[in-house]
Amino acid sequence: MILPGATLGVLGGGQLGRMFTLAATVMGYRVAVLDPDPLSPAGQLADIHLRADYRDAVALLRMGELCDAVTTEFENVPAESLEMLARHCLVAPSPAALAVAQDRLAEKTLAREFGCATAPYANIESADDLAAAWSAVGAPALLKTRRLGYDGKGQARIDSLDAFVATFAKFGSAPCLLESFLPLEREVSVVLARNAQGEIAYFPLAENRHRNGILDVSIVPARIPDTLVAQTREMAGHIAAGLDYVGVLAVEFFVLADGSVVFNEMAPRPHNSGHYTLDACASDQFEQQVRALCGLPLGDTRLLSPVVMVNLLGDIWQPQPRWAELLRHPGVKLHLYGKAEARPGRKMGHYNCLAESVEAALELARTTRAALGIG
Ligand code: AMP
Repeated sequence: MILPGATLGVLGGGQLGRMFTLAATVMGYRVAVLDPDPLSPAGQLADIHLRADYRDAVALLRMGELCDAVTTEFENVPAESLEMLARHCLVAPSPAALAVAQDRLAEKTLAREFGCATAPYANIESADDLAAAWSAVGAPALLKTRRLGYDGKGQARIDSLDAFVATFAKFGSAPCLLESFLPLEREVSVVLARNAQGEIAYFPLAENRHRNGILDVSIVPARIPDTLVAQTREMAGHIAAGLDYVGVLAVEFFVLADGSVVFNEMAPRPHNSGHYTLDACASDQFEQQVRALCGLPLGDTRLLSPVVMVNLLGDIWQPQPRWAELLRHPGVKLHLYGKAEARPGRKMGHYNCLAESVEAALELARTTRAALGIG
């Protein structure tokens, strides 16, 4: 067990690293952040900010010496960097678990091994595979780059062979999956924490709505039958145990009209769809990240209030949203990430709407969104 007073490290200084830093600090740990950006959201708050690239051997060595344990806030940390760090301190999740989450093919293959359905897909390594993929999957479909896609980036809807060929070229002929476009009834995510002892704690399921490929709102509890809640939890738990995963893991599922559940993707870290836990659960996902990393018993994930989380994107910064309009509602809890520059599509913060019922939380979200000019 790594006890308070020790130093924890996080690779990546974005908002997830910032909220990890806050949780760790509250629990009496010191925090070191590695991020090249001098203004990074987590670097602003951490005890130590190493401003260097994620491949910088000197910075990694320093991080390894300073820290008792290191985690990451994004999946695309180079595997070699994690392996280098692992020679000096505890690293979780493991480089192997991260490698799976970095590649859509690897994660779908794994999900299938653990009995989860996925959308029908075909793997494309080069232009030679296009014809076979098209005849196997056909339209409507989505073309997704296997690596480095996020928030709808590296992803396009495909309705014809011509569009398919052109989009693959536009993606630089990088390895991709062509995936059937499914009629989604709902999207849900399971956020869980698992520690090295194999203990798993599940947060309540979130029902997620996206806009332009970016998470827009999460509604909790998700409005799906208990049987589906149990089924998705079980699948996510199998994946976590199968990977011998240590840390917070988010698994996204689609619910189709016939009530079936389909694995979409996973994230080896706290997740935007788990931000509601900051105000609505007994322990939040960042506290769980600290506990799991340190080998401590996991916290209580009980939902204390129905909640709707609303993401705040840079689009509404002109120059700043009218915060007084938002904060005059006592059930609103605002979280901003300390980013100086607002750009369209950039995640600047979020707020949680707490209310007596999901319907009342949705109403509060609707009213406040209108007041802030969120479309
Ligand atoms: P992803 O990056 O895979 O999470 O995809 C981003 C969003 O695109 C998802 O949250 C869904 O709203 C949508 N999407 C992804 N894959 C599919 C699919 N196979 N069928 C329909 N919609 C999808």
